[in-house]
Amino acid sequence: MSRRPDPTPPSRAPSPAPGLYVHVPFCARICPYCDFAVTALGRSGPSRLERYRRALLAEIELRAAPLAADTVYFGGGTPSLAPRGFFREIVEAAVAQGLATPEPFVFVEANPEDLVQDPGRAARWAAEGVYGVSLGAQALDDSRLRFLGRLHSAKDVEVAVSRLAEAGLAWISLDLIYGTAGQSADSLAAEIGLATDLPRVNHLSAYELTVEPGTPFGRRAASGETLTTEPDGDGLFRVVHETLADSGFPAYEASNFAAAPALRSRHNRKYWSGVRYLGIGPSAHSFDPERSERSWNHREFGDWEAAVLRDGEPTAGRERLRPAERALEELLLRLRTADGLDLGDFGSRYGESVVRANRTRFRNWETLGLVRLEGGSADGRIEPTLEGLAVADALAREVNLDALAQDRNAA
Ligand code: SF4
Repeated sequence: MSRRPDPTPPSRAPSPAPGLYVHVPFCARICPYCDFAVTALGRSGPSRLERYRRALLAEIELRAAPLAADTVYFGGGTPSLAPRGFFREIVEAAVAQGLATPEPFVFVEANPEDLVQDPGRAARWAAEGVYGVSLGAQALDDSRLRFLGRLHSAKDVEVAVSRLAEAGLAWISLDLIYGTAGQSADSLAAEIGLATDLPRVNHLSAYELTVEPGTPFGRRAASGETLTTEPDGDGLFRVVHETLADSGFPAYEASNFAAAPALRSRHNRKYWSGVRYLGIGPSAHSFDPERSERSWNHREFGDWEAAVLRDGEPTAGRERLRPAERALEELLLRLRTADGLDLGDFGSRYGESVVRANRTRFRNWETLGLVRLEGGSADGRIEPTLEGLAVADALAREVNLDALAQDRNAA
């Protein structure tokens, strides 16, 4: 397995080939804001990772099919905790079972401390065929990192990035969290500046802190503690977008920024564009656009492991999306992207009546400065402005899909 040398030329649409997602459900410690399907690895770490590896290989065999994904994304959780050779072994198994094309683009989510503690890790990943790494930096300020319960320092982020760069990883992305209590616009802009100054970082993802019920942050917020910046309209969102655009990282999605069009996430854009993907591992989700079907694996590690090894059926549930549900999902995803929504294409799949029913609405959005209508027409492409990106979910939910409910042939 080797890395592909060159990114494909920029294009509006991502590759139509499916994607393969591998969920790694373990972390060294659970962050107080996290509500993902993860558990702390604990003292029995090596044996749990070995059980996970075996069950994952078994799931790959169960899923064998000519899927031919051109991206394999290891997310989590903390994939950087995986043992030596893990990424190569899983990708080779996926290729052997038809789930991935030979030489797929392989992406790995990593925590900085894992790259600091093991100086040879990044080079080993490159040798295993890893193409890109999404680094969970979250902040470049030590007090904010402590607040977020992270195990690394701002200096560790620098060291981790330099190791990835030295190893020759082609795609280096930083994840950032903003909007923690007390963060000012100036300090946010300064932190973003530190991130974009790191050599060879060519992609960023920036998410506003959300407090989820059931997490330690959720309980602290319920008892009256302020954990996020006070509502300030789209203030910090605007700071993130303007600072990154000024630094050469324009947004291509509400939370994602790339130094060049060819560096936009190859894998995540499949989710946003309705391309087929298969998820393996505990809690992983899959989507089949042909059948309009979403399915998901058992969430808990033990349930998933037993389902794979004992029952031979990792899928815990599936649902068929009705046309109106699928159209709403598509609106929610596409109105968050800078490329927006092609109304001609949307109308051809969901019915012209849906577009007709919303033309006035789209024109109103343009008048309010929330979108641009390509060529001034409410039949072409609709692209959100920065103001529109900030309220993209609300815009999507405003669209009247009643006509679709009567159109049984749509999509
Ligand atoms: S490292 Fe990431 S996945 Fe793990 S607990 Fe923290 S936020 Fe959640």
